[in-house]
Amino acid sequence: MVSSSYEYTQTLMGTTVSLTLLEPNETAAHTVFQTIKMLEDKLTVNRSLSEVMSINLAAGKHAVTVSQPVFSLIEQAQKVSLHFNSCFNLAIGPLVKIWKIGFKGYKVPSAKLIKQQLLLIDPKNIELNANKHSVFLKKQGMEIDLGAIAKGYIADVIKLVLHEQQVYQGIINLGGNVLTLGGSLTDKNGYWHVGLRKPFSTNDKLSGIIKVKNKSIVTSGIYERFFMQNDHLYHHIFNPQTGYPLDNELESVTIISDSSLEGDIYSTVFYGWGLDKSSKYLQKHQNLSAIFLLKNKTIALINPDNFIFQKIDTQYKIKAD
Ligand code: ADP
Ligand code: MG
Repeated sequence: MVSSSYEYTQTLMGTTVSLTLLEPNETAAHTVFQTIKMLEDKLTVNRSLSEVMSINLAAGKHAVTVSQPVFSLIEQAQKVSLHFNSCFNLAIGPLVKIWKIGFKGYKVPSAKLIKQQLLLIDPKNIELNANKHSVFLKKQGMEIDLGAIAKGYIADVIKLVLHEQQVYQGIINLGGNVLTLGGSLTDKNGYWHVGLRKPFSTNDKLSGIIKVKNKSIVTSGIYERFFMQNDHLYHHIFNPQTGYPLDNELESVTIISDSSLEGDIYSTVFYGWGLDKSSKYLQKHQNLSAIFLLKNKTIALINPDNFIFQKIDTQYKIKAD
């Protein structure tokens, strides 16, 4: 990316994770990748064993005690699912599993099967015991899926890990979640430059560049994991009311925030709310910024005080207020 930087990469969490530092630091890089592995092992539902899988496998049978970070993340995700009046739902697993979007064997499931799975995704049926750190899924077949927030949570932990290693400048990309630490040395104003992909571009074209310092940037979009069938696009964020992928005016939502977990939560919440409702919310939350890419090729920049957006793709127009 820049000449005076050191980049470390590994394939983790089904994506390429890259860490860019201003000075070589093998120890810090090693600790970062080990931490990601350790957390992925606890949180994943894409393997047969993990702490979250042990909860899912005991659904309808018994409660499972999990480690403090897993419990705390589930607790936060349940709060968002219950109190936000949004599409965000940590119990979405049974739908994710039948659609398999982004994985081998993806397909449009039968309407009957979708209806059946909708009975298994009520977040109220997740019983938490804060004293025992235990989680009980009341109905057999229920599944917790933390896919919408795991990377955000992990990115925030990585920031702490790097600080413990006395690393205060750098950039980490978890594939869709980018965390910038401090400022960059290559930009005269100290901004990190983070590319925002042009939706559906096959050759990694950018719609623009986001310039920030010390912020998390999280993007949720319909173009990362999807499939086409009969001219219809099916992507990986579901409407828990219908059981089908959310369908609205948006191509993607990018959140610029201090906490990456918060960015990950809001990228999914705002994706479901759409531009108007999200803009109203953002008016009252000036510490959060967002970039919405719309299917009609406009870009809406909300609370642009925390970042600079340099548009590259001429197909898109910036929406005037
Ligand atoms: P990614 O970084 O993989 O693109 P996102 O943060 O956009 O992920 O979240 C998408 C993932 O969240 C899906 O792959 C699925 O695991 C999960 N998910 C899908 N629909 C919902 C929903 N309505 N609420 C919460 N999580 C969801
Ligand atoms: Mg998300």
